[in-house]
Amino acid sequence: MTSPQRVPGGFPVVGIIGGGQLARMCQPPAVNLSITLSVLAEAPDAAAAQVIPSAPVGSHLSVDDVLEFARSCDVVTFDHEHVPSDVLQALVDAGVPVHPKPEALLYAQDKLEMRERLTKLGVPCPAWARVRDVSELAAFGDEHGWPVVLKTPRGGYDGKGVRVIDAASEAADWFARGDDLLAEESVPFSRELAVLVARSPSGQSAVWPIVQTVQTDGICTEVLAPAPDLDDELSSHASQSALQLAGELDITGVFAVEIFEIPGSDGAAPSYVVNELAMRPHNSGHWTMDGSVTSQFEQHLRAVLDLPLGEVSARAPWTVMGNVLGGDYDQLYPTYKHLLARDPGLKMHLYGKGVRPGRKIGHVNVYGDDLDSLRARARHAADYLEGTVTE
Ligand code: ADP
Repeated sequence: MTSPQRVPGGFPVVGIIGGGQLARMCQPPAVNLSITLSVLAEAPDAAAAQVIPSAPVGSHLSVDDVLEFARSCDVVTFDHEHVPSDVLQALVDAGVPVHPKPEALLYAQDKLEMRERLTKLGVPCPAWARVRDVSELAAFGDEHGWPVVLKTPRGGYDGKGVRVIDAASEAADWFARGDDLLAEESVPFSRELAVLVARSPSGQSAVWPIVQTVQTDGICTEVLAPAPDLDDELSSHASQSALQLAGELDITGVFAVEIFEIPGSDGAAPSYVVNELAMRPHNSGHWTMDGSVTSQFEQHLRAVLDLPLGEVSARAPWTVMGNVLGGDYDQLYPTYKHLLARDPGLKMHLYGKGVRPGRKIGHVNVYGDDLDSLRARARHAADYLEGTVTE
């Protein structure tokens, strides 16, 4: 493997395991801070490998590849949460500073571990149980009501690994794999929110304004920052709780707490439960690239290097992020003439990925004073890139 080019002046090298879009989006702030990034990429043309010169190809599942990669890095962090425990442990044993640490990362890797720990800490969660077979699932459903939301504890993303089950027998194929599953009550939520937090190894932390995430078919399509009409008490409780969680779990770097807002009955204030934790810069934080004084990617670099954190306030009353999913055509550059002329305030972020239907290939941000018009602008740009509107 070739070593990353060090910048004179004592600047560090940050290693990122995984060469996806999150690693790619760390590059602009890294350039500005004169920090060198190095990524352990899945392939030579991975999203991050296109823009980061030091991008050796290797597997995050291989102890040898990861140790060799880490040898030229001052600190190692992640583009995704799928690095197995033995690989993480090998890094720690080799004395490599790793952020977030394996002990914290576990709670984003395994939803059963997460539920157990959050419940012990008194964080509001849906009713849940570890279920080992169809009869335990049936007992849970009979106690808490059907349907039940059933989850594989590890490896899920974008709703894969989540099933809504009306009868225990529907899950027989999952139990046949032999793993314990997580059963949850189906939460009657009104919307999904996310709390984005950064915490450094020395314990400084910062929390961005809470956002609303809009999902379509299990995939986040839009983020509204801040979440419109959010109850003040819910907002401060959820933010405080996320900061406390960061300390209790000793989380380092940027992470997101995904939450469900539950409407209060008879005019009572709304409440919330935590859905899950993501321990890395997160889709719900992409709005910060243009809408916050400090983007989540710059903040993540600051946090893992234990530098002072940046200001997290919003630059405008509203920012809207629209995810661009792969659509009808793969010629994206020709869209620029029309899109950039139509909306000079539009901020494009494409990930250099090949277009496949439904694949996240980029996002757009717009910010300003009028939420409805921002939503329309972001929607139009995403639709145009997807090929579903043509003017
Ligand atoms: P993933 O890890 O694949 O993102 P999540 O656990 O976030 O999976 O679940 C995906 C989606 O399923 C959530 O965004 C939410 O819309 C729905 N969901 C998950 N858990 C529950 C629940 N307990 N009650 C109701 N809906 C749920």
